[in-house]
Amino acid sequence: MKTIDKIYVNGEFITPQGTEYFDLISPTTNEKLGKVLLGNQKDTQNAIAAAKEAFKTFSKTTTAERIQYLKNIQASIEKRKEEFIDVMIEEYGGTRQFVTISYDYMLKGFESAINLLNTYNFTKTMGESEVQMTPLGVVGIIIPWNSSNGFICSKLSTAIVAGCTTVIKPSEMSAQQTQLIAECLHEAGLPKGVFNIVNGLGEIVGAEISRNPDIAKISFTGSTNVGKIIAKEAVETMKRVTLELGGKSPNIILDDANFSEAIPLAIIAAYMNSGQACIAGTRLLVPENRLEEVKELIKEVISNTIVGDPKNETTAVGPMVSAKQYERVQSYIQTGINEGAEILTGGLGKPEGLEKGNFVKPTVFVNANNQMRIAREEIFGPVLSVITYKTEEEAVEIANDTTYGLQAYVSSSDEKRAHKIASQINAGRVQINGMGHDPMAPFGGFKQSGIGREFGIMGLEAYLEPKALIR
Ligand code: NAD
Repeated sequence: MKTIDKIYVNGEFITPQGTEYFDLISPTTNEKLGKVLLGNQKDTQNAIAAAKEAFKTFSKTTTAERIQYLKNIQASIEKRKEEFIDVMIEEYGGTRQFVTISYDYMLKGFESAINLLNTYNFTKTMGESEVQMTPLGVVGIIIPWNSSNGFICSKLSTAIVAGCTTVIKPSEMSAQQTQLIAECLHEAGLPKGVFNIVNGLGEIVGAEISRNPDIAKISFTGSTNVGKIIAKEAVETMKRVTLELGGKSPNIILDDANFSEAIPLAIIAAYMNSGQACIAGTRLLVPENRLEEVKELIKEVISNTIVGDPKNETTAVGPMVSAKQYERVQSYIQTGINEGAEILTGGLGKPEGLEKGNFVKPTVFVNANNQMRIAREEIFGPVLSVITYKTEEEAVEIANDTTYGLQAYVSSSDEKRAHKIASQINAGRVQINGMGHDPMAPFGGFKQSGIGREFGIMGLEAYLEPKALIR
């Protein structure tokens, strides 16, 4: 049993003033793993004060110094690969396959940050004027549990590139992962106050970050509902916000696609991180006259999809992060049944032999339509809705008929045709014939999937304030 009873403020691991504990429960067995002592409002205020003080000097550091800090962090993280992977598997039930990829992305993110520092021009000429891109100040980083350290690294590294300082509030469910990254960041020797980490509840620590006038910007990743609360608070003091929110991503399989490649990919896109991914492709749009073929292929792929202990190399779908999330996913499966969609695979209840953990049967609904709640709301579990279309135009219409717009997928054997469809989809990122990640390309949502972009130049500029010097 682990007790995490420290937060990180002003260059030190300290005991928070908060007195409440939160239990850490294994998603795989529902046994207690440990507990975390939660920070309170005063702890958050102290962290913000430390970041504010640190900003005075950190904002003036040179490119070479910032590059060195980024390299140091990368080196500390590299040394502890196995620990990172183990703790992600244990704490949130991420599969070994998935968390290994997450770990690699996390490291690669530092290379992109260094690349930006080497190439970005902080002083520009616009019209007749000089425009200085100046660091915003203290950035509040509020993140979910589903790729906790990945988000800490991508947001913190952007802040470092910009010359901003930070107060980070991870999910209370990620306390062990947070402890590990905090140790690496500490080892990297960043000046005190550049990063501060306060474990705690959203309504207490998160709310203080959203309200405190010394926070210049909030970079939030999480649900659309919480994003709206944060945005309302933030506007009171005109904080800048970047909001990375939920999704209900369409995956259009065009009639000329190679179905035996596209359908297995569609299942991976839907069930990545056991379906707990903002970019999960949860609406599969297929030509009506090919439905039977699609059904057969899905059944075949699912019969080879291993659900179980996330530690095992071959597991593709692990448990839901919490019993509460399990119940939520079950209630959506029930909703799908009530709405008249037909279960092709999976369904209610836990898979045999996995009753102890929060395991959901990989579920695929057919005879679903885009008006059903299962096709409109983010479920955050391994539940896929197959929706048919008659024409290409209808496919695009269904894809865009959503309040979200984070990600989309298109498969076709004709690159030009896929490109044409992709151009008509209202989403921040469209994956053509596969799944990839480009850390220099902007990432973020249309519509209620968010505000602003992360990664690359656009991500960096969201941490900067332009100042024009008119002569
Ligand atoms: P969540 O919105 O419940 O919580 C996210 C963070 O916000 C947590 O740290 C939480 O403590 C904090 N929070 C909660 N209430 C708050 C408040 N009133 N004020 C300030 N902070 C508060 O999300 P979650 O359940 O942890 O994560 C799942 C959600 O995150 C999904 O909706 C998913 O789509 C989204 N997500 C989006 C992206 C993206 O890049 N767009 C990536 C991953 C996850």
